[in-house]
Amino acid sequence: KRKIAVLTSGGDSAGMNAAVRAVVRAGIARGCDVFAVYEGYQGLVDGGNLIKKMSWNDVRGFLEVGGTSIGTARCMPFKQRPGRLQAAEHLVSRGIDSIVVCGGDGSLTGADVFRSEWPGLLDELLANKRITEEQHKSHRYLTIVGLVGSIDNDMSSTDITIGAYTSLARICESVDSIASTAISHSRAFVVEVMGRHCGWLALMAAISTGADFVFLPEKPPSDDDWQTAMCDRLTRRRALGKRNTLVIVAEGALDKNLNPIKPEQIKDILSDRMGLDTRVTTLGHVQRGGSPVAYDRYLATVQGVEAVEAVLRATPETPSPMIGMSQNKVTWRPLMKAVELTHAVATAIGNKDFEKATELRDSEFKL
Ligand code: ADP
Repeated sequence: KRKIAVLTSGGDSAGMNAAVRAVVRAGIARGCDVFAVYEGYQGLVDGGNLIKKMSWNDVRGFLEVGGTSIGTARCMPFKQRPGRLQAAEHLVSRGIDSIVVCGGDGSLTGADVFRSEWPGLLDELLANKRITEEQHKSHRYLTIVGLVGSIDNDMSSTDITIGAYTSLARICESVDSIASTAISHSRAFVVEVMGRHCGWLALMAAISTGADFVFLPEKPPSDDDWQTAMCDRLTRRRALGKRNTLVIVAEGALDKNLNPIKPEQIKDILSDRMGLDTRVTTLGHVQRGGSPVAYDRYLATVQGVEAVEAVLRATPETPSPMIGMSQNKVTWRPLMKAVELTHAVATAIGNKDFEKATELRDSEFKL
């Protein structure tokens, strides 16, 4: 009988609960025991009642609840081998042989590091008499399956990550509210949205709300005098009768000279050059989502079911899979390749080599 642990790790995102629910119920339906690990990797390291066997009813009501009800944490001890050794002991003592991790690139890297140390960790536990010969023999292999939970949609090898559409929906609702007051007072608003190195949220929000201008990490403004170009465009729109002006700034956005752009700078330009009554809104943590939109419930559910399938079909030779989505089909891709590519894209953007970043992003389809 397979024993699967499921955990959520790193930054929370809407739909993580739906993923946990799907893993628990699909696992039980396929004859497995499923354990929830509370507080991300901290639960693996600490063990005790942070690793709890789940029943069908334990995940009732999980679909529509935002964030992650089994908790998430950033766990330093898991980054060190002694912490992972302790985690291995807690798994083996419960007979757990597989882990489904729902998190971002950091969490998935951690999962793969853990697997790469297997069965060395087991040997060490046996040598220290922390597990029995029997346990050592029956846990030769550890299966890891990754699910990508991230509001930023910043993972390579998948079109979309669990939580991104909910976050986008919340941003749009917030911007709509801002637009009402902007129209009433004929004001300009500069709205900063999250996304780290990735402009997906900002770009999608800009299109979906009809923003006048957007600043992204991946595509700095091309005009030499981008400030004048922006003001000209905004002035033309106002001349057409538009009563509000909306500029969206991604948190990692860059200007023409590849320096970070801050919303306050844009505000000053709009106030000083155009005489607009301009306000800055930083949306902050409302963007993490709350109750997941239908798409995230669906995505997390089909991917959670697929993760259980991946556990059941895994062999010691196959690399750990990451469950993704490509052209509306659920995909399995090598987890470590996806993580490496994600880091390479982030590095290229950090080095301001946007052509390289685009080339790397396009290369993911060849994996
Ligand atoms: P995210 O998963 O959202 O990218 P983090 O990068 O903070 O978030 O990673 C979450 C957790 O994953 C970390 O607190 C740590 O416990 C674990 N982790 C991240 N990177 C590694 C690593 N290289 N080795 C082991 N564990 C890691």
